[in-house]
Amino acid sequence: MTAFNKWFLSSSANSIDNYYQYMSEVVKIVGTHYQSLEKPYEYIEMEDIQEKAAEFVKLENEGKLPNAIFESIQNLVMKYSLHISHPGAMAHLHCPPMIPALAAEVIITALNQSMDSWDQSPVATYIEDGVIQEMIKKINYPKTASGVFTSGGTQSNYMALLLARNEYCAKHFSINVSKQGLPAEAQKFRIFCSEKAHFTVQQSAAQLGLGMQSVVTIKTNERFEMCPEHLYEEIERVKKQGDIPFTVVATIGTTDFGSIDPLHELSKLTERENIWLHADAAYGGALLFSHSYSHLVSHLHKADSITMDFHKWFYQPVSCGAFFVKKASMFEHIQLHADYLNPEEDSQLHLVDRSIQTTKRFDALKLWLTFQAVGKQEFGDMIDYTIRTARQTADYLQERKDIELLNTPEMNAIVFRYQPNIHYRDKQKQRVFENTINQSIQQLFYDQGRLIMAKTKNHGQVYLKLTMLNPLITFDETVKRLDEVISLGKDLEKKEERLREHATIS
Ligand SMILES: *Cc1c(COP(=O)(O)O)cnc(C)c1O
Repeated sequence: MTAFNKWFLSSSANSIDNYYQYMSEVVKIVGTHYQSLEKPYEYIEMEDIQEKAAEFVKLENEGKLPNAIFESIQNLVMKYSLHISHPGAMAHLHCPPMIPALAAEVIITALNQSMDSWDQSPVATYIEDGVIQEMIKKINYPKTASGVFTSGGTQSNYMALLLARNEYCAKHFSINVSKQGLPAEAQKFRIFCSEKAHFTVQQSAAQLGLGMQSVVTIKTNERFEMCPEHLYEEIERVKKQGDIPFTVVATIGTTDFGSIDPLHELSKLTERENIWLHADAAYGGALLFSHSYSHLVSHLHKADSITMDFHKWFYQPVSCGAFFVKKASMFEHIQLHADYLNPEEDSQLHLVDRSIQTTKRFDALKLWLTFQAVGKQEFGDMIDYTIRTARQTADYLQERKDIELLNTPEMNAIVFRYQPNIHYRDKQKQRVFENTINQSIQQLFYDQGRLIMAKTKNHGQVYLKLTMLNPLITFDETVKRLDEVISLGKDLEKKEERLREHATIS
């Protein structure tokens, strides 16, 4: 025993007492908080938040008792956080976490296994690999496939382009990029993705020494899906210029619209051209478990690599994602061996051999625990419920004259805008007016904490976005909230009208 005993988990009585005290208090404040939760957000001036946060974070010389600590957490962190489990929080691909996953987090953090080398996570390593294998079966990938848990889509997309780049250099230039660095021809490497693809394609290209210039964006059709004809033309154009197409990134669920690029057609093209096909299914991966809509991802196995986020439509606490690759041997492109961690002669599975992270959380356990508790059947029901609710909501908006609906949701994201009645003769003035009204609607609802929507742009015009991931969202309640959106739009419009009259009189 040392003086520090109570701060660490051990068999001693004061350790266990302290653990129970902290854990029971913390569970209580979370539970009571949700009991009294009415709104997704409690408005506070930004300056006030900054001031309170600055006070909150001060490091103290002496430790405090847990109830004092938790009280200050309640008064600031709980009170002013965005409550993503509330059905009025529909902005981003930001999910309410499922309760079984929250229980898993307690175990993940208490055991604190590190998923880099086998000796630091003897069971956890094989559980992560097993969960990956279960997903590989769902994807319908061949036996050669492999994968690894990641911090999310950003990391997974980065890994895809990293492997694709290194594989291309090995195959066509006999260059081992890990050892020799990039060949001069890397200047000419080109990546293709749709104009609606996630910005991390550009970001990864920038970080991988290819520059954002290497990303060629392909037009989308009226459903915001990549046009294979335009992709074909662009590949031909790039080749004629002497540049080198090496990867196509298909998005399986674009962040704004949830639109799905035509993987089957794209794969025919990439196979013929011998180009790596990456599927960014950060959002759409969950469709694999859908009862009614899994056909939308039936071609996922055609991709050479896949990004999937579990902290989106799989309802896992941040962070939790995975990267899959059709041929496990591709991971050799990122393997380096450290004598103290993963020496070459070891026969155990060291997950660091598949990852760009070293120390890594045992996030696989929360996904596993979720599926143990919920089961594939009910999980699929949830996915389907959210799609049906979103489609019903879109149908409702379609019927309203004061709304312009931009997409028919394939998944559960809806993009729309309030359409004012007032029309200016000056087109530019009209655009500004429409954009201002929609921006104000989004901001005012956020400030009132009634409805949290996102805003996005299409052809320079401001749109509102609902991401209806949360299975607690109902159609009726959503319609009520949208009617409030419309009536706020009308109010703002009336104000503008009065200003106009005023201007003509004076
Ligand atoms: C969210 C998202 C990403 C980025 O994933 P993070 O988990 O936020 O790192 C990449 N691609 C798509 C399509 C996404 O929706």
